[in-house]
Amino acid sequence: MYVISTHHMLRRAQRGRYAVPAFNIHNLETLQVVVETAVRLRAPVIIAGTPGTFKHAGAENLVALVSTMAKCVNHPLAIHLDHHTEYDDIAQKVRQGVRSVMIDASSLPYAQNVAIVKKVVNFCHHYDVSVEAELGQLGGQEDELLVNSEDALYTSPSQAGDFALATGIDSLAIAIGTAHGMYAATPALDFGRLDAIRDRVSVPLVLHGASGLPSDVIRNAVALGICKVNVATELKNAFSHSLKRYLQDNPQATDPRDYLQPAKLAMKDVVEKVIADCGCEGRA
Ligand SMILES: [Zn+2]
Repeated sequence: MYVISTHHMLRRAQRGRYAVPAFNIHNLETLQVVVETAVRLRAPVIIAGTPGTFKHAGAENLVALVSTMAKCVNHPLAIHLDHHTEYDDIAQKVRQGVRSVMIDASSLPYAQNVAIVKKVVNFCHHYDVSVEAELGQLGGQEDELLVNSEDALYTSPSQAGDFALATGIDSLAIAIGTAHGMYAATPALDFGRLDAIRDRVSVPLVLHGASGLPSDVIRNAVALGICKVNVATELKNAFSHSLKRYLQDNPQATDPRDYLQPAKLAMKDVVEKVIADCGCEGRA
């Protein structure tokens, strides 16, 4: 079984001062792009899916595909539950073979967030499954989760320290000014806050909403202690824009084995850029 948890992957990244990218995939082709690029660059990567993606593709199908690919290419892979909110749903997917989860209870009051995360950690650590939780809230939309920008909340450094200790999580997603989706203008990230959180939290820190962030911003965040960088929208955009262009230019095309190739190449460029920004090439 080459499907692994992200516990050691992220601890190694923390010690080595680089980050592991988490790429959201949606189907066989997008999964192939991530795995083939990771193998070629010998980069550790996390294959991520929201509840909507697992529903779309089937959790057991995804676990079987990732597990088979990891064995075939001899490259350990993590398949990760991105922004999952329900304990029962997480428990079921762990029983199906997932070894890395995010429980996102960041919209709940602090005490409730702690309580549900603790419950998930207790269950998951029995199975050697790593758990990421979120404190503070990102604006934007991820799957069915929509947060208006005025409701987005930055993570409090002192609360983050307490939260990590109280819950026993393996990694912590923080809100320092990124949002889900693409940006109309480059956001100003609160690097001072990241520094202060890093001082108080010993577990690896996670940056969501990295789609469309300039390279220097991602590299800065990694230098200040971010160990996992999440990218979803930028991959979808590259894939679908290329596919639309190809079908417009080649209206006679009917074979997915042909018309999906340019889309895969466009997505590959994004995967390569993020791996370079994370500094994880050659680290697998
Ligand atoms: Zn996210």
